[in-house]
Amino acid sequence: MTKKLLQTTIAGSLPKPGWLAEPRQLWSPWKLAGDALVEAKRDAVRLALRDQEQAGIDIVSDGEQTRQHFVTTFIEGLEGVDFQRRETMRIRDRYDASVPVVAGPVRRLRPVFVEDARFLRSETTRPIKFTLPGPMTMVDTLYDDYYHSREKLAWEFARILNDEARELEAAGADVIQFDEPAFNVFFDEVRNWGIKALERAAQGLGCKTAVHICYGYGIQANTDWKKTLGAEWRQYEQTFPLLRAAIIDQVSLECHNSRVPMALIGLLEGKEVLAGAIDVATDRVETPEEVAATLREALKYVTPERLYPCTNCGMVPLARHVALGKLKALAAGAAIVRAELRGG
Ligand SMILES: [Zn+2]
Repeated sequence: MTKKLLQTTIAGSLPKPGWLAEPRQLWSPWKLAGDALVEAKRDAVRLALRDQEQAGIDIVSDGEQTRQHFVTTFIEGLEGVDFQRRETMRIRDRYDASVPVVAGPVRRLRPVFVEDARFLRSETTRPIKFTLPGPMTMVDTLYDDYYHSREKLAWEFARILNDEARELEAAGADVIQFDEPAFNVFFDEVRNWGIKALERAAQGLGCKTAVHICYGYGIQANTDWKKTLGAEWRQYEQTFPLLRAAIIDQVSLECHNSRVPMALIGLLEGKEVLAGAIDVATDRVETPEEVAATLREALKYVTPERLYPCTNCGMVPLARHVALGKLKALAAGAAIVRAELRGG
């Protein structure tokens, strides 16, 4: 059997149901606690799966329903970071946030998401993707009062992520994705140690490995930042040649409604490309034809065998009905182009 072309997937997160967390809010606190929360998270994962399957998404995720935040929830599972202590730090050179403090050696005493991955595996027959924060983005979310070196701390996180990733793979993950929005900002660090740390995190994995690099959710700080980037966003031009030589299989990037020149995909020769055909910074739901147009444009620079239609970023800040509409548009747009490929 030949492989289905243009298999759809999502960057990671989906909105949470209103009974689990406050909608349309990042870092929204849980509405339940204890055993009730554990059960509610699992119910939310089931719904996220059902929405993806009904919409026609091929490679599904848990929609990050068990996490408050894509970086900090993982760090909360580790030792060495003091969440009671807070320092103000500039995140991704863009906005100030009160962040927890690295106060001692960082260690993973027990698996963080492995039970979640087992549950996801048991609830669907489709290939599953599991997301983790990348080492550089983790470093960029904390105040380091112990290692006093972003590189050293990243290396420690990379080892921890690799331990976690190996167990996620054993639990049945088909794709493990590391989220590295920081790769779009700190180009010298990406070159000097960021790619190496990412490769350390992915070392020895037999499943597909991916890295997601984006321009962020549609929050104000990101929208303001984008206004400073000019008519063409060429950030990927710095990292893609380095990633092309790295052991990572897939690169997830932002395309639709962004000022990223599509031709930059050409720098990823040999890699699988998760092209963002859904804008997560607007409530307007794309038409299938708009998705198809973005995919056709991407196909000028990547073969159909290596193209995976995807969202630009996570959809957690959107209203649920909007996110569901976008999932359907993504699948329908991919189906249009798939039919054209078969016909041609
Ligand atoms: Zn993103």
